[in-house]
Amino acid sequence: MARDYYETLGVRRDATQDEIKKAYRRLARELHPDVNPDPETQERFKEVAQAYEVLSNAEKRRMFDMGVDPFARGGAGAGGGAGGFGAQGFPFDDIMNAFFGGGGGPQGGRSPRDRVRRGRSIKVRVELDLAETAFGVTKDVTFPTAIVCDTCHGEGTAKGSHRETCDMCAGRGEVSQVTRSFLGQVMTTRPCPQCSGQGTVIKDPCPDCAGEGRVRERVTRKVQIPAGVEDGTQIQLAGEGEVGPNGGPRGDIFLEIVQRPHPIFERRGDDLHCTVTVPMTAAALGASLTIETLDGTEQIDLRPGSNSGQVITLDARGCQHLNAPGRGDLMIHVTVETPSRLDEEQEALLRKFAELRGEDQPPGKFSPGHGNIFSRLRDAFGAR
Ligand SMILES: [Zn+2]
Ligand SMILES: [Zn+2]
Repeated sequence: MARDYYETLGVRRDATQDEIKKAYRRLARELHPDVNPDPETQERFKEVAQAYEVLSNAEKRRMFDMGVDPFARGGAGAGGGAGGFGAQGFPFDDIMNAFFGGGGGPQGGRSPRDRVRRGRSIKVRVELDLAETAFGVTKDVTFPTAIVCDTCHGEGTAKGSHRETCDMCAGRGEVSQVTRSFLGQVMTTRPCPQCSGQGTVIKDPCPDCAGEGRVRERVTRKVQIPAGVEDGTQIQLAGEGEVGPNGGPRGDIFLEIVQRPHPIFERRGDDLHCTVTVPMTAAALGASLTIETLDGTEQIDLRPGSNSGQVITLDARGCQHLNAPGRGDLMIHVTVETPSRLDEEQEALLRKFAELRGEDQPPGKFSPGHGNIFSRLRDAFGAR
């Protein structure tokens, strides 16, 4: 239990305040959790901080010299009662703050801000035709990004020079202001304005990147778009985005697929839909139709007696499934066109036709509700 704070700090019993402070700083830098996070070192760090707290305070030091340990819990410590004042937090934190700012305590504490940071991710729009989304494609895409500065290789310093410890914060990355209050010292800390919290400064910056270690550039690269992507699909290219400041790791690229509208086909999922308009006579008599597909033209048979709203499905003529074998279908929606503006002969023929069919005085057929329309819509939206 008998701790010797002089021994902990490695100073003589008659050490001056200055010597105590110096000894503490030296140890604290070596043992600080940000440098040495292992539990044993942290325990030692805590002891060193406690030793400093006692020996740097004239009153506590005097008590310790008389054999009273302010940190001895539940004993005759200066705090008395429930644990010494050292365990309560704030005097201890104050010391931590005085040297490291913020957080306080071995688990808190900040070190200079990392000057190496990850680069930003880039979003790149890739406009594709329907066939390119359906079957995949290799594309050249061009986008602005940040790349490592060739001149300084990301260091940011001019040739032959190096980063130097910031003299405003002595490399701590932040500056503190101490004010006294009735609670003790109140510490406000903020990132060092001279080095932006990095602890080091560039006195002689690289002329090509102004010290940032990276330069902006438009680059063109080939990207492989897999088959089956669709409008809005995002493809992540991990670690291929902007280089971070000071040579930090690269962000990602997110390719966002934008599919240009196709003059004939509309895509729903991996199926394609199109509409073919046929004259009434073809619908009645049947016909062979030439149909455009992504794979070229194809002949399909329109059955005699076809109706508007009928759907002809061509299996596996749609888009490739993304990350799965197989393709969607091509659904051809038939629209029957009723002839208008008949000439005399055509009209006479149609009247004759109607007569033969007994349709010259049609009664009209009624169905409940809008059943007919609904079933057409159902066809149109993919019920097979
Ligand atoms: Zn440079
Ligand atoms: Zn600084």
